[in-house]
Amino acid sequence: MINTNTPMGYHIGCATNTNDRFRASSGGVGTSIIRYLLSLPDYGTSITFTFDVTSCMYVPKLIYSEDDINICGSIYQDIDLIKFVKENIQHIQGGMVITCAPCQVVGIRQLLNRNNIKNFILSFCCSGQTTIEGTWQYYHFLGIKKDDIINMQYRGNGWPSGIQIWLKNGNKIYHDNYTEPWRTIHLSGLYRPKRCYYCKYDTGRNADITMADPWLDKYKNEKLGKTLFLVNTEKGQCIFEALSQLNLIESHPSDYNTYAIAPKA
Ligand SMILES: Cc1cc2nc3c(=O)[nH]c(=O)nc-3n(C[C@H](O)[C@H](O)[C@H](O)COP(=O)(O)OP(=O)(O)OC[C@H]3O[C@@H](n4cnc5c(N)ncnc54)[C@H](O)[C@@H]3O)c2cc1C
Ligand code: SF4
Repeated sequence: MINTNTPMGYHIGCATNTNDRFRASSGGVGTSIIRYLLSLPDYGTSITFTFDVTSCMYVPKLIYSEDDINICGSIYQDIDLIKFVKENIQHIQGGMVITCAPCQVVGIRQLLNRNNIKNFILSFCCSGQTTIEGTWQYYHFLGIKKDDIINMQYRGNGWPSGIQIWLKNGNKIYHDNYTEPWRTIHLSGLYRPKRCYYCKYDTGRNADITMADPWLDKYKNEKLGKTLFLVNTEKGQCIFEALSQLNLIESHPSDYNTYAIAPKA
């Protein structure tokens, strides 16, 4: 059921699997939900993202088992997931659990519904995407050649973490989240997809569950991460309760006022 009104609940919590929590973007709630749904007979397919060395960018990939989830944090690279789902619709087995940007939720939901594919959609509070050229410009500013990169992450591996780049020569480069030169690249708007300029969907309220970082004083010393999340639909509520009962996530209630100030852009 699509719900554009008030969320059914605001929560702050994390995965009880500390490895997932560490590797995830915030508290690993997104990964826990995907893991759990893929373990159910109703959901056979999800999407993960892997770093492709040849093209030097993240590419989406259909997966059919929780063992194939590549936990790599939030990806600040614009990826056309509606197109990807459309082109791969015949490869979807059973129901699908997918994470996508708020502006992609309705399109993906309609596509899956029209093809009678059961779906559970996660989204996130979105401060705007960056085209791949923005990341390539970032490497350029740092004096790194694309050919020398074997992997990178924008987030994950602790909280709030930052950009991590692994080079062929064994060196690793690390820059805290939202520091230079990424900050300038983001703020310049030069690498922002046009649609982000008139976006009205940045809270992802049409998804079953929406996730965000709790950028609050209370969590400033947090090292593993917590996820602030909104349960938007009855389906979302059901899954949230199941995960809590199975002790796959732990959480406490939050509220609108906290949500209104926490996910700083
Ligand atoms: C582009 C972008 C901008 C964001 N901006 C904000 C913000 O301004 N404020 C804020 O509070 N939070 C923002 N978030 C959300 C936040 O970074 C975390 O994703 C969220 O808190 C969930 O954390 P988690 O540890 O529970 O999720 P995880 O357990 O890490 O799971 C997240 C899931 O999202 C998937 N994912 C990652 N990147 C993408 C992507 N680009 N498209 C589709 N799926 C993806 C992963 O594959 C994974 O399955 C943003 C996320 C993204 C991707
Ligand atoms: S800011 Fe809006 S249009 Fe841009 S990626 Fe996020 S949800 Fe989509």
